[in-house]
Formats: sequence, C-alpha cells, structure tokens
Amino acid sequence: MSDENKSIHDFDFDLICEYFSGLERQGPGSPEMTLKALSFVENLTGESSIADIGCGTGGQTMVLARHTGGHITGIDLFPKFIDLFNTNAGKLNMQHRVKGIVGSMDNLPFREEELDLIWSEGAIYNIGFERGLTYWKRFLKPGGFVAVTEVSWFSENRPEEITRFWMEAYPGIDTISNQIALMQKSGFTPVAHFILPDSCWTENFYAPQPEAQKAFLRKHEGNQAAIDFIASERHEEQLYSKYMEYYGYVFFIGRKV
Ligand code: SAH
Repeated sequence: MSDENKSIHDFDFDLICEYFSGLERQGPGSPEMTLKALSFVENLTGESSIADIGCGTGGQTMVLARHTGGHITGIDLFPKFIDLFNTNAGKLNMQHRVKGIVGSMDNLPFREEELDLIWSEGAIYNIGFERGLTYWKRFLKPGGFVAVTEVSWFSENRPEEITRFWMEAYPGIDTISNQIALMQKSGFTPVAHFILPDSCWTENFYAPQPEAQKAFLRKHEGNQAAIDFIASERHEEQLYSKYMEYYGYVFFIGRKV
C-alpha cells in the first residue's frame, strides 16, 4: 500500500489526535448546518438530556448548547479532545450543563430511554451508520430525535479513483436513498436530510489545515509516520476538490418510533 492510499485508520492515533487537537473542527460542518439540523428537532425543553457522540473538542456541541436548554453530555474516545471540550465549555461558562466524558460510542453510559436527542457529526462511521443507529436508539425516549452526519455517494455513476479510495477508507459509504432506508429500518422516521454545502469541507475543514500541517511537520521533523499522515490528509483534500460532486456529508434527522 503506498502512503497516499493509506486510510486514517492505518496511522498512529496519538499523532492523529494531536494533529486534530490544533484545529477547531475535526470534521466537515458549520454552525449554520448544525442549527439547520436542530430546526427539525421538536419537543426540547430546559430539562432535556442530549448526547453528542464523537464530540471531538466540541465545536458543534457549543453551538448546540447555545440554542438548547437542558444538559448535554459529549462523549469521545480521546481524553485530549475531552480535556479541550471541557476547557471550551468552561470558557463559555457552560460547564454546569455541558460536560465531556471519555467513552466509546459502542458502549454508552446512558440508561435506556434516558435521552431526548442524540447528536453526532462526522463520527458515526466509527461504528457504522446502521449499527450506530440501531444501538443508540435504545437510549432515546420514544419520540426522541437523532441527528447525524454521514458520508454519502451523490451518484450511482462514479469515477474509479474515488470509488477505490472510499472502498479502502470506509466501505460503509452508501447512497442517500439507501441510508434513509437504513434509518427507517433501524426504527426511526426519517424526518429530514440535507447535503452539507462544499464550504463545510473547503472553508471550515480543509482551509485551516495547511497552517496546522506546517507546524505539525516542524514539530515531528523526520518522523515518517507524521510525514505519511500529512501526505494522506493532503491527498484526501485533493480528492475532495476533484470529486466533490460525487460524495459529501449529509445530515440525517430521525425520530424514534
Ligand atoms: N464531531 C466532531 C468530531 C468529528 S471527528 C466534529 O464534527 O468536529 C470523529 C470523532 O470521533 C473524533 O473526535 C474521534 O476521536 C471520535 N471517535 C472515534 N472513535 C470513537 C469511538 N469508538 N467512540 C467515541 N468517539 C470516537
């Protein structure tokens, strides 16, 4: 396997984590799209319980927190992200109702039917779309909502290069219509879905990276794993700019039946 064809899963997690800790976002998205998704969620009150799964350092969680009441628990596998998350919540004076904890999305620390809303941006791929929805559903109250972003194919006709890339990086990628069917099969009414605009990738996710890459490479000079990782990030960005009409992130909002 050449380095530029390595997927993110092939690199040292500590290095990946360190790299993304220096960035405001760990995945494509925007405050506007977070709020657009939130506009489809009903029945939230000042007493609601919300979970943000794979929250990273909490960029989208803080947006959610400003526009909802109740309590938000952010969960992420990486302690460093959770430290930054809790620091961010503190800076916004929201530490009493916005708490980050270290945990895994396939072993959640909630009671059955405890939550009103499960949020997850750019993270459900770690467990798989259908598996995640099916497992997470038990923690939602009847009528509770889920809002997740997932990478989707926008067309059945795709160039070979980008198909090959995704089959290695994340074979679970699927078309929007199949993902909606999976959401329904997992026990949700598919309430809404929309495609995140290109700017969520280009401006919010990729544009801040070259600066972070330079600093990261300076710090890890001579470290081949670090050099390979940055090469794969750059390759991924080039693929996005070449093939953005064929894939992207989609927000899916569902209501537990
Ligand atoms: N929601 C954030 C982060 C997305 S990146 C944003 O949109 O910016 C994906 C996140 O999932 C990373 O923070 C990663 O640490 C986390 N993650 C990966 N595997 C996980 C698991 N098994 N359980 C919980 N979080 C996980």
